[in-house]
Amino acid sequence: MTQNLINAIEKSNRIKMSVRYLGSRAYLVITPAKHEYVVRFETQDGLRYGCCSCRAGSKGLAYYHLPKAALVDTAIQTMSH
Ligand SMILES: [Zn+2]
Repeated sequence: MTQNLINAIEKSNRIKMSVRYLGSRAYLVITPAKHEYVVRFETQDGLRYGCCSCRAGSKGLAYYHLPKAALVDTAIQTMSH
């Protein structure tokens, strides 16, 4: 795990964000500052890939929106199995 990802996970645990499921493994993440980002996931060869509509996400960096949405994605994937 990269330091960037570790930081992102820690930040996602500290900040209260709401995550709304949009369907097709897309999630709307709303930050306390009322910024809205869309996070999408796909699974390839058993690995999960996520991308976020925010600026950090478009550079391929893990930002705190992503692990937050990943928690919800994991819950939904688990329920649907
Ligand atoms: Zn993001």
